[in-house]
Amino acid sequence: MDLELSEEQRAVRTLAKDFVDREIAPHAAAWDRAESIDRGIVRRLGDLGFLGLTIPEEYGGCEGDHLAYCLVTEELGRGDSAVRGVLSVSLGLVAKTIAAWGSEEQKHRWLPGLTSGEALGCFGLTEPGTGSDAGSLTTRARRAPAGGDWTVDGGKTFITNGTWADVVLLFARTGDEPGHRGVTAFLVPADAPGLTRREIHGKLGLRGQATAELALDGVRVPDSARLGPVGKGFSVAMSALAKGRMSVAAGCVGIAQAALDAAVEYAGDREQFGRTIAHHQLVQELISDIAVDVDAARLLTWRVADLVDRGRPFATESSVAKLYASEAAVRAANNAVQVFGGYGFIDEFPVGKLLRDARVMTLYEGTSQIQKLVIGRALTGVSAF
Ligand code: FAD
Repeated sequence: MDLELSEEQRAVRTLAKDFVDREIAPHAAAWDRAESIDRGIVRRLGDLGFLGLTIPEEYGGCEGDHLAYCLVTEELGRGDSAVRGVLSVSLGLVAKTIAAWGSEEQKHRWLPGLTSGEALGCFGLTEPGTGSDAGSLTTRARRAPAGGDWTVDGGKTFITNGTWADVVLLFARTGDEPGHRGVTAFLVPADAPGLTRREIHGKLGLRGQATAELALDGVRVPDSARLGPVGKGFSVAMSALAKGRMSVAAGCVGIAQAALDAAVEYAGDREQFGRTIAHHQLVQELISDIAVDVDAARLLTWRVADLVDRGRPFATESSVAKLYASEAAVRAANNAVQVFGGYGFIDEFPVGKLLRDARVMTLYEGTSQIQKLVIGRALTGVSAF
């Protein structure tokens, strides 16, 4: 792997860095308190081409490789994880999956809006009764024996972008086979009759992002909205999540980098015992622990991007990166709070939000325990799920 970024990758990173410093970081605390980012930021992400990264130009994308995608995701994570999550879901889990599995009609219908930021996507897998064991989902899609439309009944929860989205990538049970084998994916317009959405408030972190419950009551979906073959929905979901975990890992690198930047700056300003706290060795230990986590998480994440770009298998490496980077982001943010002392506990300072936002990264797109089972299965050949 070549660790030297190309000229194009450096330019994308600089563009993202400047954008985050100017248009995201200064507002992150206010958006967090208001429990909503400025929705206009989504169009800005589209204007800058960030929502079209890795998507072919003929569908409104701007191509680019996965390392460039990770660089942008990292910068957004540094500025505000709530914004990063909007992109990771709409582009990372929905648009990329449509690009990989969709018919020409589906790609032309949805991708131009998703890449420009005119439209948003959400990923509807988790249900109230099925989280880690997503393959046992119970939302049902039934089709009349003679063919025709599907009718979907059920419910989803914890759906990022849920109330803002224009299209739901929805996973429903279509067969009687047990477990994940009977699952099929559909692209359901969010305004479909029978689909209702309710926002979930009171989250520990990612407060600027809309997280929703979806209820589906007799929602009619034409067969042309089916994404991928009948019964292959779980493969669609897992292929999306394998790349999604890389994106979460990149966002976590951003959180850890923000923790490092804040800790170094504060340690150089704050004086105790007659000199700045940067002079105290145990404060340097906290800072160097953060720095090691940033480097290790970044290298693991870049390795996944490199494997994806070279067309090599990457799913296990993506779980390794997500597991490490999410735990590292929590550690890094926690260490930064320690450097800030009591001020780290007050939301006038940025590090408390970093810790709250980091915490969910060890939970979604597969908890840390689930990542360990994925890695363990790859190493031993034994599934311990
Ligand atoms: P559970 O599966 O009930 O797990 C509870 C605990 O048991 C965890 O510690 C888990 O690790 C452990 N556990 C479970 N099974 C095992 C096992 N076999 N071995 C060892 N330990 C185990 N979902 C979507 O579909 N789309 C989204 O956009 C989305 N966004 C989200 C945004 C937020 C803010 C949050 C909080 C969640 C989001 N999720 C989304 C859902 C998320 O992916 C799930 O919360 C996650 O998969 C865990 O499921 P669960 O919460 O039901 O926990």
